[in-house]
Amino acid sequence: MHVLDPDRQPVLPHRRVGGLTFPAISLGLWQNFGHATAFEDQRRLVLHAVDRGVFHLDLANNYGPPPGAAEESVGRLLARELRGRRDELLVTTKAGYRGWPGPYGEFGSRKSMRASLDASLQRLGVDHVDVYYSHRFDPSTPLHETLGALADAVRSGKARAVGISSYSAARTAQALEVAQQIGLTLSVHQPSYSLLNRWVEHPGPDGRSLLEVCAEADLAVVAFSPLAQGMLSRRYLDGVPNDSRAARGGPLRPEWLTPEAIGHVRALDALARDTGRTLPRLALTWVLHDPRVTSVLVGARTVEQLDENLAALDDAPLTAAELSAIEQHAVD
Ligand code: NDP
Repeated sequence: MHVLDPDRQPVLPHRRVGGLTFPAISLGLWQNFGHATAFEDQRRLVLHAVDRGVFHLDLANNYGPPPGAAEESVGRLLARELRGRRDELLVTTKAGYRGWPGPYGEFGSRKSMRASLDASLQRLGVDHVDVYYSHRFDPSTPLHETLGALADAVRSGKARAVGISSYSAARTAQALEVAQQIGLTLSVHQPSYSLLNRWVEHPGPDGRSLLEVCAEADLAVVAFSPLAQGMLSRRYLDGVPNDSRAARGGPLRPEWLTPEAIGHVRALDALARDTGRTLPRLALTWVLHDPRVTSVLVGARTVEQLDENLAALDDAPLTAAELSAIEQHAVD
């Protein structure tokens, strides 16, 4: 039985935007929290994260497999080891990717967004989540409807705040306009962002990047896959290890591990060593170096990986010379 340290929660650096405070490093439960992973391993990782002060756990209706399994795991922990600690934690979930069969099992209709949130709350065994996200833009549902469903979630008390994920700069600007029309505060954007994936910096049709749109609207930016799903580590320098995400037929496709990409990873690894840190730590420090980024959402399969990632918070900031050396290999 894991006993949480009563003097727990060493304080990780926090970043606050609007009414929300995030730890600089948050834990995502997209991979490694399905039925293929022993519950004991999931439990160890989550409790270790919480013990280390990672108070933000990020979920979605579809995280598993099967969809919903990750929320069920967190629900079990909230009912037992984390009992009484709900209010210390920032628990977020999303709807938009496939949770169940048929047209209402995914995307952003009011019916789907409402049903998905109710099912998430049931699996988690809680009466509200802290942030409810539209997981992806739905081209066939009016934005008014999707955002109206988010507004309903706040009004009903089932979500404390709401956000959007992976919406482009232009769609985000549009969503902010619609939100203003309906009296909704959008609080967070969750985009992918890493040394190998810099789309959030690219100018949109009105010349502003997603990072600029978010900063102007005071939207927190919670960056997902900051290690490019593990590519920003030494794991793939000499092939594909058997226990890696790329080998498991998961969302990191082996064909992305091109000689060119691995060449950049190798160069970044050398730069990391020159600065006295490991590549994952360099990659996380680099994303967090932009003050418009509120938190990085790491995935970790083991406690050791998580500890290595958290060690980035003890590293010195990158100098101008280091940033400019990194720039040559931070490509997408
Ligand atoms: P990362 O980029 O952090 O990748 C995590 C993977 O990288 C791990 O599973 C592990 O892979 C490897 N890894 C992690 N730490 C280390 C380390 N120190 N050394 C070596 N390898 C390491 O993030 P994810 O892609 O997992 O995404 C994080 C979270 O972001 C998700 O859980 C989810 O909450 C969110 N997300 C949101 C999306 C959205 O659409 N909104 C989409 C995707 C993610 P391995 O198993 O190979 O060891």
